[in-house]
Parts: sequence; C-alpha cells; structure tokens
Amino acid sequence: MRVFSYQKAATPAEAAAAALGTPGAKFIAGGTNLLDLMKLEIETPAHLIDVNGLALDRVEATPEGGLRIGALVRNTALAAHATVRRDYAVLSRALLAGASAQLRNKATTAGNLLQRTRCAYFYDTNQACNKRLPGSGCSAIGGFSRPLAILGGSDACIATHPSDMAVAMRVLDAAIETVAPGGAARTIPIADFYRLPGNTPQLETALQPGELITGVVLPRPVGGKHVYRKVRDRASYAFALVSVAAIILPDGTGRLALGGVAPQPWRVAAAEQAMPAGAAAVAQQLLAGAKPTAENAFKVTLAQRTIAAVMAEAQATQAKKG
Ligand code: SF4
Repeated sequence: MRVFSYQKAATPAEAAAAALGTPGAKFIAGGTNLLDLMKLEIETPAHLIDVNGLALDRVEATPEGGLRIGALVRNTALAAHATVRRDYAVLSRALLAGASAQLRNKATTAGNLLQRTRCAYFYDTNQACNKRLPGSGCSAIGGFSRPLAILGGSDACIATHPSDMAVAMRVLDAAIETVAPGGAARTIPIADFYRLPGNTPQLETALQPGELITGVVLPRPVGGKHVYRKVRDRASYAFALVSVAAIILPDGTGRLALGGVAPQPWRVAAAEQAMPAGAAAVAQQLLAGAKPTAENAFKVTLAQRTIAAVMAEAQATQAKKG
C-alpha cells in the first residue's frame, strides 16, 4: 500500500469540495472494497476523505410515502430495518445474499452502489485491463470470461457490476441523491446512474468529479410478491453468475431485473410488458441482443431458467393467498 494523507470531513459539501480540490482524492466509508484495491495497488489514492462522521446514517420516511436511506446506512442495518423487510423485501433479500455478515456490518449503502467489478484481470496489475488502465486492452475478451457480461458489454470491456443491492434498487425505481463540490444537490434515477462501458469503461457512473452520494430514495411501496434469487458457484460469499430481482403483482404484471450479466442491473420495459405472456416471453425480451462468449454462454440458459423459477415461485405464493 502506498502513502496517503487523510482527513475527516465535517459536512457533505466540505467532503465534495475536498475531493474536487485535492488531486488523487477518494472518499472512504466502510472501505470493504477500497482497502482491498489499495493493498493490491489497483487504487492508489493520494488522499482519503473519511465520510463516516457525516450524519448520513438514518433510514426515514419521506413525505411522499417512500423511504430515504442515508448513504452511510450499513448493509446489515438496512436489511434488518422493519419497513424495508415489510415493504421493500426484495431489497432486504438482495442485501442478505451479498458478501458475508462481517462485510455487511461495515459496508455502506453508497459504497455498495460504487463497488468495483470482480473481473479477475482488473485485480491483476500484470494483465491488460481498459478499466484499470485505459487503452491497455482487455484480457478477458478471449481470456477467462466465465463470470463476465453477456449483455451491455463492448469491445473494450465485458465486466459485470457485482452488487446485489443495486439490482433490487433498480426494480424499486430508487433514486440516488448527491451533493456536488459547490454544495448543489441533485437526484439521479438509478436507471441513469450506471454507464455502459463503450470506449470508456473506466467511467462507471453518472457522478461528476467530487460529487458525493448522500442517500437513496425509494418511492412508495408497490406491494406484490418480492423475490431475489441469486445463482452462484457456492452457497454463500460469492458473486452472482445470474440473479433475478422481481416484484410480481397479483394480476401477473410486475417488474424484473437481472444481475450478474451486465455492467449495470439489467431491466427492459418490453420484458415487463411481456410478463402476462409468461417467463419465456420475459426472458426473450430481457436477453435480446445477448453476446455471450464461449465460456459464459451458459448464462443465457441459466437466466432463462432463473426467470422461470422466480415467476413460478411468485405465482405459487399468489395462488396460495388467493
Ligand atoms: Fe478490464 Fe473490463 Fe476487460 Fe475485465 S472485462 S479485463 S475489467 S477491461
């Protein structure tokens, strides 16, 4: 790990201003991803701005009937929050499917959204990686690509976004609140938050330099059966090969997003319009344009089957209630 300077920020605006004004600065909160990246010298910040002292650790009701989740709310606390468990169960289930109990105790809501890909070449500084070193190439294309993207990738990068939480937030239509270095606040719908890699895979989100996430707002709950199903190589402490977050209403309509298959949570309006026609129609729309490699072509079939299993689970629950 390299030498870095450190400061504790007193307000979100001060943190954002320091991030913009200090070359090589990074925010740190839980540090569950950043410290690993620093030890491997994949991230080499010259300055760390500790945001843990900011008053951004509350979950509170919004006047619109939704929920505001502070950026520093720990994953464990969010998963266990009574309102989240009752009204946004897909979020609670996705959080509990991620990482380990120790990591969830430290990891924050904002940090979870901003965690970096787990592409093996991104973590190996001897390998070409356009995300880590723009213009150096992509070792995964033609290399070990089994865990990587089948949708949304480019000739420059086929990394997936590793978050489970973000997939649930995508079906909940979450919005991300931020503060800019000048102190201005803005709200970014999660649908617009993650960029596709194109020719600039090093740019992963809509955040501007210095911009700090202060919270996430969930709209009022929509009811329905909430399911998060994660398929991985082992039963815990592993990233998704494919995951499905779904909210399915009694009339058979609903929302559905895929994780583990793209650089962002993958949700397609046409797939949701196809829900009354059944799982095969939903999968066809969600997976349209999939470009798997020879190593990860299995993800297409796995996604089809996971979508079918989730929709069958939701229908069985609705039938029991009826
Ligand atoms: Fe790097 Fe992306 Fe290629 Fe992985 S897929 S090696 S993260 S450029």
